[in-house]
Amino acid sequence: MARIVAVVNQKGGVGKTTTTVNLAACLGELGQRVLVVDSDPQSNATTGLGIDKRKLRATLYEVLLDQAAASETRLTTASNGVDILPATVELTGADLELVDAPRREYRLRDALRTVRDEYDLVLIDCPPSLGLLTLNALVAADGVLIPIQCEFYALEGYSQLLKTVLRVRASFNHSLAIDGVLLTMYDGRTANSAQVASEVRRYFAHLVFDTVIARNVRLAEAPSHGQAISTYDSNSKGALNYRQLAEEVVRRAGEERVG
Ligand code: ADP
Ligand code: MG
Repeated sequence: MARIVAVVNQKGGVGKTTTTVNLAACLGELGQRVLVVDSDPQSNATTGLGIDKRKLRATLYEVLLDQAAASETRLTTASNGVDILPATVELTGADLELVDAPRREYRLRDALRTVRDEYDLVLIDCPPSLGLLTLNALVAADGVLIPIQCEFYALEGYSQLLKTVLRVRASFNHSLAIDGVLLTMYDGRTANSAQVASEVRRYFAHLVFDTVIARNVRLAEAPSHGQAISTYDSNSKGALNYRQLAEEVVRRAGEERVG
C-alpha cells in the first residue's frame, strides 16, 4: 500500500509544487507508481504535469464533495508511472463548502482509500495556507515532506506549521510522521544559502535530506512546457538533483522497513 506524503509549508514559493512534480517524475523513472494529488487551487502541479485544465470533467473539488470517485477522476500524465488527481481554481470553494460537511477533515483520506493500493507513493501538493485543504492532506498522510527555501527567514512561521502537525497528530492522525525536510533553491554563490542550510541542519538534524536542490532556471522553465524536469532537460542540474532525491526517498523507505 502506498505511503501518503503531504508536501507542506504554509509559505508560498518555497518549492512545494516543483518538488511534488519532479520527485514524482523521477520516482516514475525508477519504476515506481506515483499518484500526485493537486490540493492547491492555483493548480500548478496539474499544469506542470501537462494536463489541459479546460478539458477536465471532474477534479479534486468534486472528489472532496463526494460528487466523483478518485478512481474515475485521476488521469495518467506524460511522465511514466505518474497519475494525477487534478485541480482547478474551483478548488478555492472547497474550504468554505466543506465547513459544515460531515467528516470534513477526513474527506481526502476517505477518497484515497480506494486507490492507494495501486501506488507506491501518493504525493499531496498543499496550498500555501494551513486551512481545511492542508488539514485534509495532513489527516490523509502518513508523513510530511517540508521544503525549505534557502533564504533569510527560512524558519519564520515554522512553529505554526509544527503546531498544526502536532494538533493533527493529537486529534485526527496519531501516526503522522515528519518524513523529511528538503533544502530548496540553494545558491552556492551566496554565503546566505550556506548559512541557512547549516542552520536548518542544526535544527532538524537527521530529518534533513542529504540531497539539496540547487537554484536552477530549467526547473522554473519546465512547467510552462507541461513537462517534468526529467524530460524537459534531462541533464540539467535540476534533473540531477531531483533524481538524487528520488533515490534517497527510496533508500530511506527501504531502511525504515528493515529497521
Ligand atoms: P510553492 O509550490 O511552494 O509555492 P513553487 O514550487 O511553485 O513553490 O516554486 C516557486 C517558484 O520558484 C516557481 O516559479 C518555481 O518555478 C521556482 N522554483 C522552484 N524551485 C526552484 C529551483 N530549485 N530553482 C529555480 N527556480 C525554482
Ligand atoms: Mg505550489
